[in-house]
Amino acid sequence: MRIQTFFLILLAGSMALSACSKSNSQNTQTSDNPLFSESTLPFHAPDFDAIKPVHFRPAFEAGMKQELKESKEIANNPEPPTFKNTIVAMEKSGRLLNRTSSIFFNLTSANTNDEIQTIQKEMAPKLAAHSDNILLNTKLYNRVNTLYNNRDDLDLDTAQMKLLEDTRRDFVRAGAQLTDAQKKRMREINERISELTTKFQENLLALTKERAVFVADKKKLDGLSDDRIAAAREAAADRGHEDGYLLSITNTTRVPILKGLNNRDLRKKVWEASAYRGIGQNGGIDNQPLILELVKLRAEKAELLGYSNHAAYKLDPQTAKKPQAVLDMLEDIIPPVIKNTKREQADIKQMMEKDDINSDVKPWDWNYYAEKVRQAKYNIDQSEVRPYFELNRVLKDGVFYTMNKLYGITFKERHDLPVYHPDVRVFTVYDKDGSKLGLFYADYFQRSSKRGGAWMNAYISQSRLLNKKPVIVNVLNIPKPAKGEPALISFDNVQTMFHEMGHAVHGLFSNVKYPSQGGTSVPRDFVEFPSTFDEDWAIQPDILKHYAIHYKTGKPIPKELLDKVIEASNFNQGFDTQEYLAATMLDLEWHTLGSDEIPEDVQSFEKKALAKYNLDMEAIPPRYKSPYFSHIFAGGYSANYYSYIWSEVLAADAFAYMQQNGGLKRANGDRFRKYILSQGGSDEAMKLYKEYRGQKPDVKYLLKRRGLETSM
Ligand SMILES: [Zn+2]
Repeated sequence: MRIQTFFLILLAGSMALSACSKSNSQNTQTSDNPLFSESTLPFHAPDFDAIKPVHFRPAFEAGMKQELKESKEIANNPEPPTFKNTIVAMEKSGRLLNRTSSIFFNLTSANTNDEIQTIQKEMAPKLAAHSDNILLNTKLYNRVNTLYNNRDDLDLDTAQMKLLEDTRRDFVRAGAQLTDAQKKRMREINERISELTTKFQENLLALTKERAVFVADKKKLDGLSDDRIAAAREAAADRGHEDGYLLSITNTTRVPILKGLNNRDLRKKVWEASAYRGIGQNGGIDNQPLILELVKLRAEKAELLGYSNHAAYKLDPQTAKKPQAVLDMLEDIIPPVIKNTKREQADIKQMMEKDDINSDVKPWDWNYYAEKVRQAKYNIDQSEVRPYFELNRVLKDGVFYTMNKLYGITFKERHDLPVYHPDVRVFTVYDKDGSKLGLFYADYFQRSSKRGGAWMNAYISQSRLLNKKPVIVNVLNIPKPAKGEPALISFDNVQTMFHEMGHAVHGLFSNVKYPSQGGTSVPRDFVEFPSTFDEDWAIQPDILKHYAIHYKTGKPIPKELLDKVIEASNFNQGFDTQEYLAATMLDLEWHTLGSDEIPEDVQSFEKKALAKYNLDMEAIPPRYKSPYFSHIFAGGYSANYYSYIWSEVLAADAFAYMQQNGGLKRANGDRFRKYILSQGGSDEAMKLYKEYRGQKPDVKYLLKRRGLETSM
């Protein structure tokens, strides 16, 4: 059954979709449905040429049926429970459903269409109910619980013991110990939550259309690059405008193009389109009723299970364990961050005065003038920098080079495997001894069928029990160059490529027996650790020198420019951290409410929540406001948005440790691989970390990493 993985998939499953017409369901039963059997391609890679949207519905239906049958057989086994006939049998079950889910739920995010969205909408509540059907099976739970009660006599190794404990906890958290009436209520709650999160995400996609800003006069776009203007023109044409330009909003409050847009009125208009989305403005889409109902149901569910609130429920299996532990850590970080943002704001105000603007700093000014401050301080013109970051060079001589130096692995591109979009590239990954480790798919370019952001996914998770090698994909949103032009990318995107590769090697180096412990099946506040750790290689001078090469002249980036790029990468960290912390606090405030404490109004609740932590600065709104905070209201990050900075504490500490021990060398990589990257979820995350590091992580390296330490 692979409970943990299945849950992750379910959660990821509520990430992206939109309403649309019902698709026709053709005959797609076993014989002609490629999902019904394991792919015969190398590494069992998905056969994207053969898989069509119409195949998913029958594969989901049959997959659920199959897994339910298997779980009943395990539950009804007349033999007394053993680790093998219960836990291992569960690990082996549900293969059709897992195969279908892992392919489907990456497509819903990376290359969706109306048909896929319809199926997703239909399947989300069915999958939630299916999961309950298994986890609320009393006979099955009793077998697991019997094993758990006798666990010390079962002669289990560490991974087996953890698997047994985790499996039992999944049952308990799903409500296995509840009365029948409570179980019934739990099912209702789960189904409704699934509908609400699905609707929330569906609205978000519709909102990006609803809130796009039309500009008739090209002069108003002064300051945007030719690429940006061409993209805006194309977006307008896509929507049927014969002339004019369409400026799209992104998933965050801030909109990156505002950095360059000289027209202050237009900046305000675009910013407001972004920040006031989802509140029913002018009769538009309103996500607020969904939020209030969702928060209440989550609180009720947590209370049913014996937790004081949703955050307590969500943090129990994390490395942080309790909401208070998170608050303690964040409350130490907030004061130095605010000190930094005050300083940044003063610089910005000064810069605005040079333009004869004497108002307070507004949120639509911040990134625009921050860019000017950055240029004044570091005199970096992005158009001067980008030619040194050509995508292929960054990938091969930056990302792959670093992986090779650390771990001895190599990547070889291949063109014989089918892909779900022509932009997707496939690489075979070879281990240090030349053996094949797995497959790596790179899907880097932005397109309208892809949701925003960047992520890693496993099409196939490594498992020795199932004899599976990993098949991993990295998905990014790098603007696609015009035909025939090189992809010259921002330094942000360079770091994102390193970040996602950190997740990828967590999947690729996985060396575990049980599928539910494979790769990134670790607590959510641990999963961003290897990826954040990887980002720091991007700014190491030795590595930069290797990949930051001018695409035309072939000359390495000049030292002076390089130093500035490195220094500048710490610029605006106060703002970045504060907008993140503001979103984190919103998440925690929403999810530490009891079911009888739900407010009536989303916006006044937000205001109060931010003020409570001194994070209510007008110029620095949360990275996500509640009505478009998909991580917590559509994704799996409810009460877990803190996990990025929690993981970063580990990442900064580990990177500092590695630097103290000689930096980029095989011995360092091998140690990291042995204790962290190969272990998946086979042992307690914090225990693994301490074994790797020899001690607990120290928060001082996080402050140093963000350039915030001096203000403590
Ligand atoms: Zn990540």
